[in-house]
Order: sequence, then C-alpha cells, then structure tokens
Amino acid sequence: MDAVKPTIGFIGLGIMGRPMTRNLLKAGYTLRVYDIVPAAMEEIVQAGALAGASAADVAAQADVVITMLPDSPDVEKAYLGPQGVLEGVRPGTVLVDMSTIAPTMAQKVAQAAAAKGCPMLDAPVSGGDVGAQKGTLSIMVGGDEETFARMEPIFAPMGKAVLCGESGAGQVVKACNQILVAVTLVGMSEALVLGSKAGVDPAKIVQVLSGGLARCGVLENRGKRVTERDFAPGFRIRLHYKDLNIIREAGRAYGVPLPASALAHELFGAAMAAGRGELDHSGVITVLEDLARTEVKKKS
Ligand code: NAD
Repeated sequence: MDAVKPTIGFIGLGIMGRPMTRNLLKAGYTLRVYDIVPAAMEEIVQAGALAGASAADVAAQADVVITMLPDSPDVEKAYLGPQGVLEGVRPGTVLVDMSTIAPTMAQKVAQAAAAKGCPMLDAPVSGGDVGAQKGTLSIMVGGDEETFARMEPIFAPMGKAVLCGESGAGQVVKACNQILVAVTLVGMSEALVLGSKAGVDPAKIVQVLSGGLARCGVLENRGKRVTERDFAPGFRIRLHYKDLNIIREAGRAYGVPLPASALAHELFGAAMAAGRGELDHSGVITVLEDLARTEVKKKS
C-alpha cells in the first residue's frame, strides 16, 4: 500500500456510495465516512472504513472529501449547513460532489468552497448501481484542470472520468444524459403501446428495431424487460423525476426551452402520482398504457 495516499472523507452511503467506497477501500485508501442514517455506515465500517461523527468531522480529518447525496438541498445542507463540510474543512482540501444536482447549486457550493481555500469539482456519474459495483462508472467532471489531474487516480477505482469544462459542466452533461434517456424511454413506450395494441408482438418490435436506425442503449437494455413486464429497478422513476426537475430548472436558468423534457417530466410525474415511483424508469410506459387502455406484453 502506498503510504502517501490521501485520506478520503466520504459522505452519503446509499445505493451508490456503498459500492463506491468499497472500491476505494480495495484500492488501498484510508476512508472516513458519514451518513445521516447511522445504519447506512455499518456495512462499510465493517469493511474497514472509519466512522465520522458529522460531515464537519469527516472533512476536518480528510485530504479529499467526496459526497454522494440524493438532491440539491441535501448537498447544500451537507456543505453549507451546521456541522457541514465547510465548517470543518482545512484550506487546500479537495472537495468533490458526485451527486446529481442542479448545475447552479454545484456552482454556488463551489464558490463557497473557494472562499474557504478549497478547490471543488462536480462529478456526477452514469452507470447505475451495477457500474458502481464494477468500478465502471462514467464520471462527468466540472472544475479546473489541476484539481482534475489530482483527482484522476482517486476516480480510477470508481470508473472513467472526463473533464467536461468549468464548475457546473459535469452537472450540465449529466442533465443532457438524463434528457436523452427520459425522452428515449417515452418514445420507446409510445412505439410499443401503439404496435402492441395494433396486434403486433412487442418482442418482435424490439427485435427488429434493434437492427435499424432506432437501435439504442435504452431499447437494448430495457426493451426486452418491458415486454416481460419486469420493472424491478435499476434506476427508479422517483430519481429520474428528480433529475427532470433539475433539467427544467437548468432550462429556465440558461434560457433554453426544453419541450420534450417538459412532456417527459409530466409523464414521470403521472407515474409518481400513481404510486409507481419505486419502479424502474422504464415503468413510465405504464402511464401510456393507462391512456391507451392496453398492456404491452410479449406473445410467446
Ligand atoms: P440513496 O438515496 O440510496 O443514498 C443517499 C444517501 O445519502 C442515503 O444513505 C442518505 O441517508 C444520505 N444522506 C442524505 N442527506 C445526507 C446528509 N445531509 N449528510 C449525510 N448523508 C446524507 O441514493 P443513491 O441511489 O445512492 O444516489 C445518490 C446520487 O447518485 C443521486 O443524486 C442519484 O441521482 C445519483 N445516481 C444514482 C444512480 C442509481 O442508479 N442509483 C445512478 C446514477 C446517479
């Protein structure tokens, strides 16, 4: 083990944070962790991490602080709130938020960090819980080149990082990713509802469309599962709805109309209202099925 490896503080040990911290431990880093739900820390403390008492406590004893929290208000509270990261942190500590949040919030927290003498990166991820476990996440980074270069070896056990631009750029690219996935899911849903109600086996539709221009990751990963009515997450409707909120907030902040995202947002909202927030995001098809009074299911 390399003795000069920085000590990492890691805050937020949910579906993503737990496997990410495991991979950092495996790579030989010393970890001090914190979660507002103490039970969330147990598994990773047993695996060798040290337990922190608060975000400020973790930050005070780390060379690098990473956060993996649900949403913008959680990140704001964890950094700027009482007992938050910026209360405990020493100048020069590198801060990295890997949660998916609003680009404007990423910039606000990074400015407050800079005032404390701490460089900060936004570094949201794509690849889901499976990518987090395998250490194959796609990491979209916003910030300065020097801090990115210092962080690259620490990102490596978690996935592949790409510097996308200045502070907030990682969150902007993540929003772009979530637009494409949400709108494609809605398009796939419409296609399967129409084809299926018109009497064609939806499994055939998925098979044949996967060979033409319409082929895509969404169709490949979710098409077959939808025709088998397997809506186990994966990525939950409730989280994609949260991301569509972020996308529309970004659209308003930067003056960009996003009509297709707005439609997807409302359809995901309808799925939430129907109590389907815990289904995989491909479960948005159930809203279109309700409208058409039909159910998409493979014939054989
Ligand atoms: P999660 O809800 O499972 O975990 C979040 C953890 O943060 C929880 O353990 C919670 O107790 C903790 N927490 C909340 N506020 C806190 C605070 N102030 N201080 C300390 N701990 C706090 O969420 P997740 O699925 O791990 O997702 C985390 C982020 O990653 C989200 O922004 C999500 O959109 C994004 N993401 C998730 C996936 C996925 O497949 N789950 C994929 C890509 C990106």
